[in-house]
Amino acid sequence: GSGKGAAMVTAVAYRLAKQHIERQQILDSLRLDRDQLRCVMRKMEAEMQRGLARDTHATASVRMLPTYVRSTPDGTEWGDFLALDLGGTNFRVLLVRVRSGKRRNVEMHNKIYTIPQEITQGTGEELFDHIVHCIADFLEYMGMKGAALPLGFTFSFPCHQNSLDQGILLNWTKGFKATGCEGEDVVALLKDAIHRMEVCDFDLDVVAVVNDTVGTMMTCGYEDPRCEVGLIVGTGTNACYMEEMRNLELVEGDEGRMCVNMEWGAFGDDGALDDFCTPFDRAVDESSTNPGKQRFEKMISGMYLGEIVRNVLLDFTAKGLLFRGKLSERLKTRGIFETKFLSQIESDRLALRQVRSILQHLGLTSSTCDDSILVKEVCSVVARRAAQLCGAGLAAVVERIRQNRGLQNLSVTVGVDGTLYKLHPHFSAIMRETLRDLAPQCDVTLLQSEDGSGKGAALITAVACRMRGSRK
Ligand code: BGC
Ligand code: MG
Repeated sequence: GSGKGAAMVTAVAYRLAKQHIERQQILDSLRLDRDQLRCVMRKMEAEMQRGLARDTHATASVRMLPTYVRSTPDGTEWGDFLALDLGGTNFRVLLVRVRSGKRRNVEMHNKIYTIPQEITQGTGEELFDHIVHCIADFLEYMGMKGAALPLGFTFSFPCHQNSLDQGILLNWTKGFKATGCEGEDVVALLKDAIHRMEVCDFDLDVVAVVNDTVGTMMTCGYEDPRCEVGLIVGTGTNACYMEEMRNLELVEGDEGRMCVNMEWGAFGDDGALDDFCTPFDRAVDESSTNPGKQRFEKMISGMYLGEIVRNVLLDFTAKGLLFRGKLSERLKTRGIFETKFLSQIESDRLALRQVRSILQHLGLTSSTCDDSILVKEVCSVVARRAAQLCGAGLAAVVERIRQNRGLQNLSVTVGVDGTLYKLHPHFSAIMRETLRDLAPQCDVTLLQSEDGSGKGAALITAVACRMRGSRK
């Protein structure tokens, strides 16, 4: 009778409500409140200090590496330069023409080369042979084979530098694993590869090894002199900023400033973020090429966000909360959920029907409308956390600059680059909101850089050549 029917309806409603609560509880573990973000900021501030100080540098998770870049560009830079850009989505070789004075501008020609995964995971010799092969191809293509132009090498991995023109790779990140490179000077590895060439018809004059954050800061600094911070949110994440020499205990001298490559991706490698880590973060970390390392990066950057989402979806499905509890082979495949889908799914004008077609494209065919809503919510929670963590890190940086200078209020520009930052519809807004909340005394302008890392390397090379000239 109708009594039985009503009981069944109640049971269904009850089950749905319970499932809803269960899903939200899982998602809550990925939501950070204000106090937690403030705590992240505090811990970042403490690690920055530990990285800078002589006694604690060796054990600090945030390494605060000196870059030997002492000033932002002043517009008098001039000349033709080569630049290499390794460590993002692609490998690029560039010719950069920098002109000063009335016709001040920067003109660039570049060619993009892919680095096959076998090569990022092979031997260092194979990797650098490939790089040199690409350079030779580029010189040929540009018709400048004999030219020995000064070169800036954007190498976006943690490097120990004792001077501008040297960089000892501390460890690979972002899935690179080529053997025999860690602990070596990448300039020497490049030169060795040139000498290994059969017909060796060129030499390179490597003037600067530059992190992509530093290149980005320099590029934006060319347009805006208040730019004293560089930020990358792409395949990986990292930041750099201008620090007072007196606080850089690893470098002689107390006058002026030097750019510090923070390597903030490694924040949390000492367990500082364990309270905020979820089982999904641990799963992503454990299946990476560098377990236990780059914990902050793994919660923020493009290489990992899709994997976090996939792990959440797997958990939901296994608990019968999604896709009618059916685990597809596709969903079990590492890397299917690329971060670009994350940006697409959250695109404001995207209807749920389209979310469903993205899911279908991923082979997740049995999805319902409710599934689409949930997948979209998972994406949004994971991206929000990433943007907030990034904002909390940046808040620590700008606050430090403000305090360094004893200012009541600081007005500063941050040069930003990276595919996630540029493509995600909400990332920058959420980051801004977090910054305003955590660093209210800092007025921060986020300036998106156009082609930051390659151009920046050329600008740094230009400054170095100018100095070299004036020393002669
Ligand atoms: C590297 C940094 C780099 C960042 C962004 C990280 O994995 O360690 O050196 O700046 O990625 O590319
Ligand atoms: Mg000093």
